[in-house]
Amino acid sequence: MHEMGIAEELVKITMDAIPEDIADPKVEILNLRIGKLASVVEHSLTFCFEIITKDTPLENARLVIETIPVKIRCKVCRREWEVDDPMFKCPDCKEGEVEMISGREIDITSMELADE
Ligand SMILES: [Zn+2]
Repeated sequence: MHEMGIAEELVKITMDAIPEDIADPKVEILNLRIGKLASVVEHSLTFCFEIITKDTPLENARLVIETIPVKIRCKVCRREWEVDDPMFKCPDCKEGEVEMISGREIDITSMELADE
């Protein structure tokens, strides 16, 4: 399950980001941006996250996931558009010279720590 690897990565990054001078930190919310093409199953990720955060500062943290649409840009006329599935032809100039500019990212945008 590739969500487990992602969950582990998220925990690692978050733990590194928690300021060291906070005693007994507790993360309440983790805000994420996940591209549609990153093929992350949200409930699998939440499930894995809950398992591996037991007895860590991230235990019971809530994952708030913003889904990022797939965006394509035409290399010829610079037109940008959103698609549900990658479509590799520009609707304007019909060129096939396109690049994907978003849709695969998995980013942590912010975290919220509980007040003591
Ligand atoms: Zn074009």
